[in-house]
Amino acid sequence: MRVNKSKKKQKLFSFLIVLCFVLVAAFVTPLLVETFTETVTKESAEATTEIVEEKNQTKGTEDTSNEQERTNNNTTTAGQSGKVVYLTFDDGPSSLTGRFLDILKEHGAKATFFMQGSNLKNPGYHENVKRVVEEGHYLGAHSMTHDSRKLYTNKQFVPEMVEAIDLIRNITNTNPKLVRAPYGTAPGLKNKEIRNQTAEAGLKVWDWTLDTEDWRLRGKPDKVIQKVKEAPIRNVEVVLMHEQSQTLEALPAIINYYKEKGYQFVAYNENKHFSLNFQNDERL
Ligand SMILES: [Zn+2]
Repeated sequence: MRVNKSKKKQKLFSFLIVLCFVLVAAFVTPLLVETFTETVTKESAEATTEIVEEKNQTKGTEDTSNEQERTNNNTTTAGQSGKVVYLTFDDGPSSLTGRFLDILKEHGAKATFFMQGSNLKNPGYHENVKRVVEEGHYLGAHSMTHDSRKLYTNKQFVPEMVEAIDLIRNITNTNPKLVRAPYGTAPGLKNKEIRNQTAEAGLKVWDWTLDTEDWRLRGKPDKVIQKVKEAPIRNVEVVLMHEQSQTLEALPAIINYYKEKGYQFVAYNENKHFSLNFQNDERL
């Protein structure tokens, strides 16, 4: 009897132990599996997110460059996010060219200069003319004489631009195609014959989207800044300025203004040319 009782106890004990194992197996294992699965899922989810983010970043970059190409190709279908500003400086080189370049460099901004032959002939300016190109800006021509009678009445527009380009090539070893017409293409290039000559010479002519009128605001840099701030926001802005001291003084504030508005500062690029002239001549 005693033996039997003890055997029964032993059986019960073994049963309890087995039961314990079963219970452990039944409840703890799923918990462990769940935790494990959770960890794995979380980790792989994180990894996936990282990849997606990385892809989006790459995509974002591509989108921006495409956007830029679109905006550069056509001002009217400019992208929604890729705002670009072309700061342009006419009438140089001058005694201020180096200081303009210093400010642009300080702000990491690229710009476009349209230089005049009579000033390009001054060897004292050549070092800064070279700097324009070396520092990633575009350098285009702005005629030899800036004289509207010679350029437009006597139709010397193309010959003068070609001569100014020759000077630029001799100094910088570049051969620019973009020029800016003194006083703009309106009314200067209203004459179709001059436009035909320009197109035949393979030249492009840029006017602007925003005239700061800086040349008549001597001693009033605040007014120059105000002109920029008053203008409507456009996705592609081509800002007309001149190498003058009030413009130099206004430049840091102008750059900061466009930075705050999310603009990219780009120099003209011949490969991404878009037509911008008051005569609406698509050839130019
Ligand atoms: Zn000019």
